[in-house]
Amino acid sequence: MNIHEYQAKQLLKQNGVAVPAGDPCKTLEEATTAAKRLFDSGHSLIVIKSQIHAGGRGKGTFTHGFKGGVKLAKTLEEAVTYAENMLGKTLVTKQTGPEGRVVQTILVAAAEKIVKEFYLAVLLDRATSRPLIMASTEGGVDIEEVAEKTPEKILKETVDPAVGIQPYQARRIARGLGLKGEVFNAAVKLIMGVYKTSWECDASMVEINPLAIVETASGKESIMCVDAKISLDDNALYRHADILAMRDLAEESPLEIEASKFSLNYIKLDGSIACLVNGAGLAMSTMDIIQHYGGLPANFLDVGGGASKDQVSAAFKIILSDPNVKAIFVNIFGGIMDCNVIANGIVEAVKETGLTLPLIVRLEGNNVVAGKATLAASGLTIISGDTMADAAKKVVAAVNS
Ligand code: GDP
Ligand code: MG
Repeated sequence: MNIHEYQAKQLLKQNGVAVPAGDPCKTLEEATTAAKRLFDSGHSLIVIKSQIHAGGRGKGTFTHGFKGGVKLAKTLEEAVTYAENMLGKTLVTKQTGPEGRVVQTILVAAAEKIVKEFYLAVLLDRATSRPLIMASTEGGVDIEEVAEKTPEKILKETVDPAVGIQPYQARRIARGLGLKGEVFNAAVKLIMGVYKTSWECDASMVEINPLAIVETASGKESIMCVDAKISLDDNALYRHADILAMRDLAEESPLEIEASKFSLNYIKLDGSIACLVNGAGLAMSTMDIIQHYGGLPANFLDVGGGASKDQVSAAFKIILSDPNVKAIFVNIFGGIMDCNVIANGIVEAVKETGLTLPLIVRLEGNNVVAGKATLAASGLTIISGDTMADAAKKVVAAVNS
């Protein structure tokens, strides 16, 4: 699950990490009040930031022509104009795809003068199976590009999860970033806090881009998180009710939301062959074999090892609500899964949805004889595949005919 920048900043702040003062706003009135409060409290510059689950907002463009999903305002009038051009409007960035995302919330925050931008992230390194802190002096830009062109500019610290981050590791990063004096000390505290946030939230990634040295009104330099992105491990959300409450369904695909209600792992893709499979590994190889025989999968769908009839039926309805689907490939290997449960789920779903598309089924394993008998007795037109390859050929042929 992903959360918005303003929510990520709330979590960081709870762990003692410095973030600019600001408020999320859903209406023009709220935005005006928030902007006024910041100007009245002595800030001469504020920033209005579109809150969507996608990066590249600064360089994004709204579909009504307005440029920039992040804007600096010197006056209340300017701030209100920007808020008007963002709230309820669709922002297109490098990461949203051409359809863009509707901005439902904006963050109205104090904008300190940025002296220098850095990059800081905590992620899980699959190679070492440990948390990895990454930092770079090349902040505010595309970090993938830095990694590719100048990998020596990325500092890395692997953390031993049993003991957690050690102060010397945070100091080594701060030194590597070339920080000195008070800013150095503040950065060490900030890095420890960002790590703590990542660990305590069970985050799969916390990314601060940019982390910035800013000059406050009094001329003093300090360091803070100007942007923040947190991705959470869905498997750990059960122990974070407060974070789960931050979920924004408007940012998620409706079909994926429906699937998550039934604990189904569904990811929509662009092809025309829907697949319903048990087990993630088999689901991946099913997509591969469809492509091997010249088809394109419409989705990834893993109904899990012990799906119920209701789950199978729900899965069927979900894959069918994708208008690109031209044929369905059910590929089940019954290990724990009872093939007859799948067969009953299929029969019920086909009857309920009045399916007219070609349906190719390959069943194998636990209770397969009963499963096949259920399908045969149903009177439905089902093409059966003897092997995975045979079924894949048949489904591709059905789409092409
Ligand atoms: P992104 O484009 O979605 O990554 O959004 P960011 O929050 O990173 O904003 C893009 C850029 O706008 C940053 O790299 C900064 O240069 C600028 N920006 C964002 N917030 C502030 C701020 O508080 N003060 C100043 N001066 N610039 C900001
Ligand atoms: Mg950014």
